[in-house]
Amino acid sequence: MNKKKIFTSLLCFSMLALAACGGNKGKEGQTSTSGETSEPAHVHTFSDAWSKNNSEHWHAATCGHEVDKDRAAHSMNDNGLCSVCGFDMMESVSIELDTDSGERIFKTSYMDLGENEVLRYRISGGHTGYGFELEDHDPTNLPDAVTAYTIVDGVKTPAVLDGHTAVNLGAEGKLYFILEASKLSSRDDVWFKIVERNI
Ligand SMILES: [Zn+2]
Ligand SMILES: [Zn+2]
Repeated sequence: MNKKKIFTSLLCFSMLALAACGGNKGKEGQTSTSGETSEPAHVHTFSDAWSKNNSEHWHAATCGHEVDKDRAAHSMNDNGLCSVCGFDMMESVSIELDTDSGERIFKTSYMDLGENEVLRYRISGGHTGYGFELEDHDPTNLPDAVTAYTIVDGVKTPAVLDGHTAVNLGAEGKLYFILEASKLSSRDDVWFKIVERNI
């Protein structure tokens, strides 16, 4: 056999091998009839920790794929925390002395509220009496729009924020104040404040 023939034979062999290889490529993922084993199907892996945003929690993939599992809306308990992932859905605020009026208040800034927006505030204890005001708005809407309650020593009690009814928080209790924009007749340029009053 001369050198040229050897080269041609090698070339043919290589091409056959390539053809066989190429032929098998199309069978990936199918049952092999030649006894070759295909790679096992990929199984996503997920973090044990919760990922979360303002509205949902989920387990993110740790395998690099853009998938997640157990995605669901937060489920808020009375303390304002998601009972599944612990996300705090309330804003902790405090009553401060307003030097202009001399009142002790919590006051929001001006807001344009979205149609289904819900505002949630948690005010820590140490106060005994509260009233509240909402400006640029028809106050007759407030009883429907506002849910207010206290939790003192683990006991939840509806809070009447009319400025005349005592709301006793003691040192450790908290006042929870939830305002649903959908129940307000006007949602633009509103602000509201909670005023601490001595009753
Ligand atoms: Zn994966
Ligand atoms: Zn959650």
